[in-house]
Amino acid sequence: EKKYSHEVEFLQAVHEFFEAIEPVIDEHPEYEKDAILERLVEPDRIISFRVPWVDDEGQVQINTAYRVQFSSLNGPYKGGIRFHPSVNQSIMKFLGFEQTFKNSLTGLPIGGAKGGSDFDPKNKSEHEIMRFVQSFTTELSKYIGADEDVPAGDIGVGGREIGYMIGQYKRINGPEAGVFTGKPVPAGGSLGRTEATGHGLIYFLRNMVEEVGETLEGKKVMISGSGNVAYYAARKVTELGGIVVTMSDSNSAVYDPEGLDLDTIQALKVDDRERIARYTEEHPDVTHIEGSVWDADIDADIALPCATQNEIDGDQAQRLVDNGVKIVAEGANMPNNSDAVKVYRENGVHYAPGKASNAGGVAVSALEMSQNSIRLQWTAERVEEELETIMNDIFQNCVEAAARYGRELDYAAGADIASFENIVTLMQIHGAV
Ligand code: NDP
Repeated sequence: EKKYSHEVEFLQAVHEFFEAIEPVIDEHPEYEKDAILERLVEPDRIISFRVPWVDDEGQVQINTAYRVQFSSLNGPYKGGIRFHPSVNQSIMKFLGFEQTFKNSLTGLPIGGAKGGSDFDPKNKSEHEIMRFVQSFTTELSKYIGADEDVPAGDIGVGGREIGYMIGQYKRINGPEAGVFTGKPVPAGGSLGRTEATGHGLIYFLRNMVEEVGETLEGKKVMISGSGNVAYYAARKVTELGGIVVTMSDSNSAVYDPEGLDLDTIQALKVDDRERIARYTEEHPDVTHIEGSVWDADIDADIALPCATQNEIDGDQAQRLVDNGVKIVAEGANMPNNSDAVKVYRENGVHYAPGKASNAGGVAVSALEMSQNSIRLQWTAERVEEELETIMNDIFQNCVEAAARYGRELDYAAGADIASFENIVTLMQIHGAV
């Protein structure tokens, strides 16, 4: 712990995980001799590198980039690439750690990784983005491969950036298929991958709602973010009868108790990469909230944080409880800090952790790898069906694992216990490596 005291997000993720698996550890004193926990928290390796690029003014710029290859116990390293100024080693390690367990929950053969750079794509020209991505990929390409390490998108990295990565990778290594997932469909991407995390979140949510004998019909849903995960979650939950009352970006949020117009959100955020504040130009009657959506008093049943880590603290979680929220399911990775999760536990809020509820994206990425390796493309319907089944299975596994340790309806404990058991089994099979 001392060794990594500066890695705040990483320690937070590890602490929460260790707390959840305590009952399993208590039943298995032999884990100590095998140094199971010590091996769990040390990534296989961390690659860190410089990314030089030239901006439109001819000025040389330097960014720092990482690839954390956390664990290959369950298959090739697999995890997204994030471009955001906040990226540092602690955030990459926490995401790689979470990814390892999340990926094992999907039931598909993928190890855990994460990567990214402190490059800020905002206000950069197309050419600057392309030059940056080419330089980034030139170095990254030494460490990845279809059976070795398969990156995908994350915050700030979508189909456009993955497209530039494939282009550069091929210049260096030739036409290897399946080195990246989340590819644009004409470049070998899977149908349904773009929508998968958001849709998967809603399939998981539907299970949670049904578990307490209810449906999504008429439920008021707060969503944060308006990126890939948030937008497709909003579409899916609306399709199933829910009412999306909020969406946001890093500057502000919009609130409409009657439900937001998702076509406007699409035009602004998905098509044009605009600020969400401009939503009010077309809908002058909606409430515009400066700052975080979680600081506003909004009457809602369900909250789906889909923006970034630690966006909800204890006070904000208490506000959700006071305003009637009964279910919180994470679309983002670790959007609730430890205090927030405690508030949910103490107030009987049903809470799903990202490693279970947002696993749909990586699951369909694994299906993209399968399609690439057999050189076939599945229909959108087939991918969606597989996704739904995978999310239902993850839900069931979480429920069963929690119940085995007397933690009924504690999906966070269930997800951590189920994935820990998967990983420990693999560690024991592989021996002390
Ligand atoms: P996008 O870049 O598409 O969207 C991110 C959204 O969150 C944007 O609306 C962005 O606002 C907002 N946001 C980003 N950083 C902050 C911040 N510091 N404070 C407030 N708002 C912020 O990313 P994704 O939708 O892909 O990812 C969102 C989350 O979901 C991340 O935690 C990611 O790790 C997780 N996730 C993503 C998966 C995927 O398949 N894409 C899979 C599993 C998890 P703005 O437009 O202002 O930047």
